[in-house]
Amino acid sequence: MKQTNMDLKTAIRQANGIVIVGHYNPDGDAVGSTMGLKYLLANMGKAADVIYPNAYAQNLKWMDPDGSVLIYNGNTAKCQALIARADLIFCLDFQALGRTDAMTQPLTESRAFKVLIDHHIGPALDEFDLCFSETAVSSTCEKLYQTIAAELDVALVDKRVASCLYAGICTDTGSFSYACRHAGLFRIVAELIDRGADTVRIHRAIFDTFSASRMHLLGYCLHKKLVVMPEYGTAYISLDIEEMERFHYQAGDLEGVVNYALGIEGVSFAAFFTQRQNRIRVSLRSKGEVDVNEFARQHFNGGGHKNAAGGSAFESLSETLARFERLVPDFYTHEIQPKRAALPPIFTL
Ligand code: 5GP
Ligand code: MN
Repeated sequence: MKQTNMDLKTAIRQANGIVIVGHYNPDGDAVGSTMGLKYLLANMGKAADVIYPNAYAQNLKWMDPDGSVLIYNGNTAKCQALIARADLIFCLDFQALGRTDAMTQPLTESRAFKVLIDHHIGPALDEFDLCFSETAVSSTCEKLYQTIAAELDVALVDKRVASCLYAGICTDTGSFSYACRHAGLFRIVAELIDRGADTVRIHRAIFDTFSASRMHLLGYCLHKKLVVMPEYGTAYISLDIEEMERFHYQAGDLEGVVNYALGIEGVSFAAFFTQRQNRIRVSLRSKGEVDVNEFARQHFNGGGHKNAAGGSAFESLSETLARFERLVPDFYTHEIQPKRAALPPIFTL
């Protein structure tokens, strides 16, 4: 981290132009943390602009009812001007500026005071002036709440802030099914409920608002595209652009699909490959101690967490899948098999 002794409260008080940035393909935690922080700063009398590199899913739009979020891809000049003018930039839910795609260069060139709030492995400390980064938490939204409590004032968390933070926590834990073993998370959730988060309505807004074509696309993935490699405890799904267009793909439609592959008994490693304009996006998931972060780093120019990571490949889809299939036996021998052997396969009391 750069040499600085300015604390968060002072940085906010002194700021004249504040920008809040989320990562490429912003998910529930990215939108929840950035919008939650925007509303929190508003409660401190400070305006801020939220900018994402690209579009985000329809089922998260309720967090920005005024449509205030700026998408860099499509509003480049305006976003560049805001970044150049900013003297305080918050980077939420990513660990290195490179996760912001085309925004990487303007953010790197900006001389603004940069604050990182995140929960990914390996934060690029030299890119930020102040870091609140911890991998043991469920989500950036949980880390943001802790940071508000430690550095600012939880009284600033009103219903809007609480609702956004709850949204990020529930999406990043798969509705409280992973990354949520610690009781402290549930104490924070209880405080968010006390401060106005309506958990039932938030779940309905996020998880019960898919289009019929998204459901057909999911059905197609599971019925026609799921490849199981039982001897390696591995399963994967892939989609090319033609298939995505056939099902009228919209941003966010593929969120969570990889988890279905991981839901198979005996599968500890799941992958999902999607063809994009200039690359193949790779999503990786694992169970228990099996670490996919390192696999994403080594083989797919990516990273993330132990149980959820992602990256990109710059070959054709078929070449990527063939390479993945060649990598799996070795990954099984060195990672899946030994880590699985350490745990009984079925949970018992
Ligand atoms: P997803 O599969 O949902 O896109 O991403 C899973 C996790 O891996 C997320 O926490 C995400 O931040 C991280 N991740 C996804 N893509 C990349 C990438 O290209 N680089 C790095 N370092 N992390 C990624
Ligand atoms: Mn997150």
